[in-house]
This record gives sequence, structure tokens and C-alpha cells, in this order.
Amino acid sequence: MKLRIQQHNLAWLALLLLWPAAHSQLGAASPALQATVNVLLWFDTEDYLLPADDDACRRLAEMLSQRGIRATFKIVGEKARVLERRGRRDVITALKKHDIAYHTDLHSVHPTPAEYLAPCDLLDGISEFVRREGGGAVDVRRIFGVKTLSCYGQPGSSWAPQAIAALKQIGVAPHGVSCYVDEGDHVGLKGKPFWYADALVVYDMADNWTRMELHDPQAVEPANQKVSAIAERLRTEGGGLISIFYHPCEWVHREFWDGVNFRRGANPPREQWRPPPQRSPEETEAAFQRFGQYMDHIRTIAGVRFVTASDLPGIYPDPVRSGASRRDLQELAKRLLASEQGIDFQVIDHRAYSPADQFELLTLALGQMIDAKTLLWPLPSRGLLGPDLPPPPAGALTEVSWPAFRDATLDVRDFMRVRQRVPARVFVGADAVPPLDFLRALAWAFDYERVHGGLPESETVPLAKVHELLTARHVAADTPGLFGGWVIHKEDFRAPKILEVARLQAWTLKPALRSD
Ligand SMILES: [Zn+2]
Repeated sequence: MKLRIQQHNLAWLALLLLWPAAHSQLGAASPALQATVNVLLWFDTEDYLLPADDDACRRLAEMLSQRGIRATFKIVGEKARVLERRGRRDVITALKKHDIAYHTDLHSVHPTPAEYLAPCDLLDGISEFVRREGGGAVDVRRIFGVKTLSCYGQPGSSWAPQAIAALKQIGVAPHGVSCYVDEGDHVGLKGKPFWYADALVVYDMADNWTRMELHDPQAVEPANQKVSAIAERLRTEGGGLISIFYHPCEWVHREFWDGVNFRRGANPPREQWRPPPQRSPEETEAAFQRFGQYMDHIRTIAGVRFVTASDLPGIYPDPVRSGASRRDLQELAKRLLASEQGIDFQVIDHRAYSPADQFELLTLALGQMIDAKTLLWPLPSRGLLGPDLPPPPAGALTEVSWPAFRDATLDVRDFMRVRQRVPARVFVGADAVPPLDFLRALAWAFDYERVHGGLPESETVPLAKVHELLTARHVAADTPGLFGGWVIHKEDFRAPKILEVARLQAWTLKPALRSD
């Protein structure tokens, strides 16, 4: 990071020295002064069976380095161990010039993450993910000599929210922020990066992911045109992110290494694992040539730059974590009280508030008012996970006395401090209240203070029924192909509980907004 800052400084110094020349060329060819389109190029680096994949990894890493491109290599634990066992320091050294990220311990050996997380709720799912995948993350960090892994992404369609929520525990947190990079449609926000379950997520990129078919001799020109068109569209939208992904093994195999062994639930013992059939050297060479042309084209598109997963927290900082202003909280309370349909994320100017942020900040603000402390603005938030369980059914309670509401608010504040998540239920005496209803009541009390200059101590607090967490609409429905579409899962594999947990974690969903 230090080195990169120095390079930036040098670049600015050069720009200043060359200012008259640079100034005369302001316009389309000046990437620094127009909407930036970032290209995130990532490789699922996973084939631990075919030795030719090691060479493909090295060649890719080197050809990108030669072009000044840094990519993100998501490495499987067993792949890292295999490179070490085979003595491929050359491959490790070449890959280390790029972002080192994580892609599970064993990838397709059953049970896969979605298979073992399918029966879990949030908390035992997080523990189980850490138990099964933590060792591989330790190995990748050790073998590649990195302190943190820059992102994680799932094998195939084996997605689960518990994995995202667990990333900090296994060392996937560049600059202290967990990043998730993959492609799929379990959860998404209109083709743009978003925050979800305590992580910055690039997923379901819709029209903003692309790739060139490696083994089609006619593929280069249409792929170049496609990526140029995406960049042009994003520029008109003020900038954006393009996701491009491959697997190094695609250059050398005829069939995916895992399909050969672990198809549709098959789970042969290690001693029976077979390498996949390999492509001819000519086919591999032609694919590298095409890929080089594709990369060279992308490098020449004006206003486009390559970024890695560890750049993402800098590109998409979350200003809400440093503090929310009184004005923002007043606006949030107003919007919460006006929300007829349900509770959604909110964007104020360039700041995005998930429902969990709104819950946390209003609880903290009201808690300080109850303590009769002077509120210090801006009010920082740590960020919460969503509830671990579904809410209780709506009870008969329609209003709450102030002392009962006050005590419940202080208890919620303590719960947030200790558990760092939105409670699945808020106890008002013996009554369990859904957190959505409680959030609306928090907004009412906060707004009361704004209007009356004091807390509603001689009032009752209305407890209106909130019907829906609107952010949960961004989580996919449970359809047959959602998990079963990946050839490694059994064809009829379904994981409805993963989606239930995912909808609860939609409390944390909000757009990731660029700093520039
Ligand atoms: Zn993979």
C-alpha cells in the first residue's frame, strides 16, 4: 500500500511538471479527469489435479505483470499446498505479484459449503464455515506469505450468507474490510457492488460482467466490442465496475477437473482422484494469444483501469462507519415514519444506510438521550449483522408506555454491544416485538425529541406493524437451478434455509457508493 501511495505521488508530480502539455490534452484521453471505469479481473485458481494448471497460473500471472496489470487470484487451500509440495516456488512467486485471495479449502469435495450450510442457521453456519475453511485460509496465507486474503468467493453456486459473515474470522479482510467477489444471482443490487453481511460484495453484476471465450478463434473482436460498450455505458453513468473472471485451468483442460471427479454428488476418495483430460499445446498457446489481445484492448480503453479486490475498500469507503450527522438521523426518522410499504435501505446525499444501520444509529442516539448525555455528532456505528432467527409473530401490543420502551431501548443497546447484530426479537416486558416494528418506534421517539425538544416521558410510544423488510426482495427465490445448476451439486439439491438466512441478513444490504 505504501508503495502504491508513493507511485501515486510520483504520478501527480509528473502531471504537475507536465501541466501545460497535460492541460492541452484534457478531454477523452485523460483518464484521471473523467468518470473512471474500474475492471476487476479475477481468477478462481482451483485445479489441484492437473499439473499443467500450475504452468498456466504462472504464465497468466507473468503475462499480466508484464502488461502492468494486477489481477485477483482466488486460491484454493489444496491448490496452495500442491504448489508447495511440487516445489513450484516459481508459480508462487509469479502469483504473489497479484492479489492473493481465497476460494475454499477443497472446493468441490463433498460436502461443499452450500451442502454443509443448508441445514444451519446464521450462527452455527458461521462456526461451521470457519471450522471447515479456516485451515485452508491459514495455508494460503502461509504459503503465499500474506497477512490477509483480499477476498473470498464460493465454488460454483455454493453460496451462503454465513460464509460472507465469517470472512473476518478467517483473515479475509483487506484494510479491515471483508470483501466478497464472485458471480451468481443469489443476492444482488442491479449489477453494482453492495454491502451485505459485514462485507463489501461484488456479485450478480448483471450487464457489468463479461468475458471472452478463450477457445473460439473468432471471439476476440466481439469480446473487445462488448467490453468497450460496457465501459462506454458506465462512463455515461458516472463510472462503475466491470467484473471479468476466468479459471487458469480453462487454458489447459478439456473438462473441469472437478466435473471429472465430483459430479452430481460423487465423492471418490483422494487416492482415486483423476486429472482431467488436457488440451493440446497448440490450443493452449492460441488461447493465451487471444487473451493477451483481449487484455491489450482493455488497457487502451480511455478512462479504464484495472483494480484488485484489495483496492475495493478504498474505492467504496463507507462514510457511515465514521459517523452519521444529526441531520441524517432526522431524515432517516422522517423516512421511516413515512414508509408505508416496509423498511428499505436509504441513501442521503452520498451516504447509504442499511436497515441495520438505521436500527443501530437510532438505538445509540436514543440511548444517549435517555442517559441524558450530550449527543456527540457525528455518531459512529460499528455495523451489525442481521438477526439470527426469524421475528416473532406480531403480537397484540399497539403501544408501549415510555418507561417500558426506554428500558427496552437500553437493553437493545446492550444486546448490540455484546452480540453485534440486530436482535431477532425485542423484549418489552414479557412481550416479544419484531425488530422492524421496534425500529419504526425508535424513529417515532427520535422524531418526538426533534419536535418537542425532549423525550416522550409522559406519552405512550405507538407500535405500528411494519409488514416487510424491503431489502429482502433482492434475495433470490428458491428455484430448482439456483444451487442444483452447478454440476457438482446433486441435480435436485435445494437449500431453502440458506435463502431464509439470506433474507434475514438483508437487514445489512445497501449500495456501495464510490468515493470519487
Ligand atoms: Zn471455483
